This record gives sequence, C-alpha cells and structure tokens, in this order.
Amino acid sequence: MILADFSKVPKYNNVVIIGSGPAGLSIALHLEKKGISSIVIEAGKSNPDQNSQNFYKGKIVGDNFPDLSICRLRQFGGTTGHWGGNCIELDEYDFESWPINKVDLKKFKKESYKNLNIEGNFFKKKFNQNIDLINYNWSNAKFKEKYFEKIKKSKKITLILNCPFIQFNGENGKVISASVYKDKLKNVEGKYFILAAGGIENSRLLLWSRHKNKTLINKNLPIGNYWMDHPYHKVAEGILFKKNFDDYLTKNNLNKYIDVNCNYSFSFSPNFNFLNELKVLNTSINIGISKNNKTNENQFLKQLKCLAPSIINKYFFDKDDYNNYSFSVNLLSDQKPEYYNRISLGNEKDVNGIPIPVLYWKRSENVRNSSRKIVESLASFLILKNLGRLAAEEFLFNDIKYNHMNGYHHMGGTRMGNNEKYSVVDKNLKVHNTKNLYVSGSSVFVTAGHAHPTLTLTQLAIRLADHLSKLIN
Ligand SMILES: Cc1cc2nc3c(=O)[nH]c(=O)nc-3n(C[C@H](O)[C@H](O)[C@H](O)COP(=O)(O)OP(=O)(O)OC[C@H]3O[C@@H](n4cnc5c(N)ncnc54)[C@H](O)[C@@H]3O)c2cc1C
Repeated sequence: MILADFSKVPKYNNVVIIGSGPAGLSIALHLEKKGISSIVIEAGKSNPDQNSQNFYKGKIVGDNFPDLSICRLRQFGGTTGHWGGNCIELDEYDFESWPINKVDLKKFKKESYKNLNIEGNFFKKKFNQNIDLINYNWSNAKFKEKYFEKIKKSKKITLILNCPFIQFNGENGKVISASVYKDKLKNVEGKYFILAAGGIENSRLLLWSRHKNKTLINKNLPIGNYWMDHPYHKVAEGILFKKNFDDYLTKNNLNKYIDVNCNYSFSFSPNFNFLNELKVLNTSINIGISKNNKTNENQFLKQLKCLAPSIINKYFFDKDDYNNYSFSVNLLSDQKPEYYNRISLGNEKDVNGIPIPVLYWKRSENVRNSSRKIVESLASFLILKNLGRLAAEEFLFNDIKYNHMNGYHHMGGTRMGNNEKYSVVDKNLKVHNTKNLYVSGSSVFVTAGHAHPTLTLTQLAIRLADHLSKLIN
C-alpha cells in the first residue's frame, strides 16, 4: 500500500527500508514473497523535481566529476528513472578480496533477472590470446513504472513517499528508530533497519547517524572511504580491413556474435592471464564499428597517409572507400579502491540539517597505464593478423590532461569485509558491531571490476532479504 500521510505508518515494523531504488525495492519484494512485511521510506515523490534533486547537491574535490545532483535521481524507483540499463556480471576474480564469492550470488540470479527484465544469457568467447568477447543484457526496467501499481496493491509492503530519512537513533549498536521528515520530525520504529539510499547517500547518512549517536556506530569504521566509480574514456580510433576482419571472425566462429552489418558496438574484456601478467585493470573495451564511414574522410587515415603511405596505398586508396570499417575504442576501467577516495560530510547543510556530501575523487595513474597496455596489445594484434590499424590517443603515452567521463556507477564507501579496519559491513551486510543495521547497494562493493553495478547490487539485495527472512521466520 502507498500511504498519503504519516498517521497510517505502523507504530512498529519488522523491516524498515530507506530508499526505493533497485536495492530497496528488491529487498521489500523478496520479503513480501516470504510473507514478511516491510515499510519503505522514500525521500522523493513519484517523479523527480528540481526541489528534490537539490537535496542531492554536493561538493567535489579532485578530478572533474559530474554534478552530484544530476548523476542520481531522488524519486520512487531511484536512479532507474534515467539509467542506461546495461547489465553484466562481475568476474569471479573481481571477488578476490570480498568476504563472499561469485557463487554465493548464484541462488539469487533468477530473481534479479526477473526484477530487471533480462534473460541473463551472458557469455565470454575467446577473441584472441589476451581478450574475450563479452556481452551485456539490456534492461528496460524503470522501477517506478514496473512496481508502482504492484506496491499500491501490496498487503505486505507499505510505501511512504516524500518522506526523507534523516538519521538512525539508538545506542550500543542497536537502532531503535529512524527519524524522518514529514511536516515535522517523526520516528519510525522497527526490528531491522536497511539503508538503501544509493551509492553516495549510504555513506553520507551513515556518517551523519554516527555523528548524532555516540554509541550506535563504531567511530573507527572507514565509512565513506574506498569510494569508486568507473573512469570512461576514448583511447583510439582506426580502420579494420573488411575482408581480413570478416575472415578472422568466420574462422574463429565469432561471426555469430559480431554482426558488423548493424553498425554496432561490441565489448571485450582482458582475460585473466592478461590481467595478471601485464597488471592491467579489469576493463570493458567497447569497440564501435561503423561500416559506412567514408574512410578517406577519417582523421586517422589522413595521419596514417603521412606516417605510413605504403599501408595506405595498399589497403585504401586503390580500393572502394566503403570496403573498410572505421572504429573507435572506449574503455570503462576498474578503479582500485583507495582510502583517499571518499565521501565525507561538508560544512554546509541541506534544508533538513544534514551536511552535504563532499566527494574526494582522483583517478590513479594506473588507469592511464593500464589503458595504454590494452591499446598496445590491440594494435599489435591488428598488425600481426593484418586486420587493420589503429591510432592511440596521445594521453596514453604522455603525461597530459585527458578528457574522461564516468560510468555514474557509485561504488564503495560502506564496503563489505571481515576486518573492521578496512570495511563497514560484514558479509551479511550488517554494519560491524551493530545489532540490527544493514546497508544495501553498490556502496557495499569491495572492488569495482568493470561491470555495471546494478545487476550485482540487486542480487546482493535479494541475498540480504533472504538472510533477514531466516532471522525473522
Ligand atoms: C545516467 C545514468 C546511467 C546509468 N546506467 C547504468 C547502467 O547502464 N547499468 C547499471 O548497472 N547502472 C547504471 N547506472 C547506475 C544505476 O542507476 C545505479 O547502480 C542504481 O540505480 C543504484 O540503485 P540503488 O537502489 O542503490 O540506488 P538509487 O537507484 O539511487 O535509489 C536510491 C533511492 O533512495 C532514495 N533516497 C535517497 N536519500 C534518501 C533519504 N534521505 N531518505 C529516503 N530515501 C532516500 C532515493 O530517492 C532513491 O529512490 C546509471 C546511473 C546513471 C545516473
């Protein structure tokens, strides 16, 4: 049911969930299946508006980063209101320093695919000695559209909108209530509390709750630290020799997966040996192929004409312009967790009195070095098999500033782990040393890999709900 006013909020709740994005709703839906009731506290309304987005403002210190008020949505359904829908799993080796393994999520895959409207038909096919062809599943799920009516009718899920959570209250590791703002400050009491407010707010709200309660949350937990995003940047463009490339695909049975006739983009990632031997970061290598680009208009070809006229004469200008493929390469890189990269509380406060978040964020040199190794490997392979040629971006070789974007994938800050010095929540996502406080979302990720996070965070959310259902029943 969806409540219009606060007076109908049950006095006491089994499970209090803060946030109605894919993390929060996946928990409520799984609990419902198990016959367990929950209340979902959502700050936004059913649509985002400027006023609500203003609460998402923050400061950035370090490398340039998108405005914090546009890279997430404060509304029912959370950021799925404008996400890209790309879904892919983390690799097994991304879990190396996690307290759980990839196999621990297996049981929750089916339900996560259902929530996200995907089939889950992921594959990896060897492309060459160093990289594999990989595939994404595309999700059209916007959680608001998908779940609004269902929750309205639900007897087990209570949702209250436009009701920002402010802080947890309690002592000695036990949360007694969550303070929310609905006309004035009010408290919601419960047995278990789950913070699922997104990859920045989880750190911010936990830091604030710790500040307001001296004995609730251990003062030494690294809340906000080891924050990560996926740096994304263009690294090369080039030409593929159509006949040679097509022959290579056919010979290696890859033509079933790469259909260049679609003017399409394809993704690859380094295999485990390449990652280990060359110390490259796990990376999504996105190659956009364009069949119908007039090759003689391509900047790269103009350069190549000066540098290597024999290649040009042999492969291009004596042939039909349309007989080659132009391509560009973009990389979405892993970002190793670093203590410095963090969310902390600023001096300025929002209208609810909560300090705005300050994001300290820097890309490491590792990203540039790793990207260079990947591009060099790709370039050498194209020459070796005579499949084409590429021109790498200058920043890969020289210490110059480079344009980069981000994945809008906010990870870390309340990371999982067994050791309280380096982590905030345990393997069941319970905040260390607390009795009943949990965190859900990509803020619990220990490492980022190159995978878009929502599929994994949805599986982790369902796993948490499953864990709680065993404690409750
Ligand atoms: C432009 C864009 C494209 C993206 N594309 C992809 C993609 O292709 N693939 C992918 O995997 N991921 C993508 N993402 C990331 C994806 O959207 C997030 O991983 C996902 O939405 C996180 O889910 P969540 O439930 O943890 O957080 P959110 O979806 O952010 O939900 C958090 C919820 O908590 C609520 N909330 C916040 N503060 C409070 C408070 N104080 N009180 C109560 N409620 C509160 C919010 O209103 C919101 O409803 C993209 C993100 C952006 C911005």
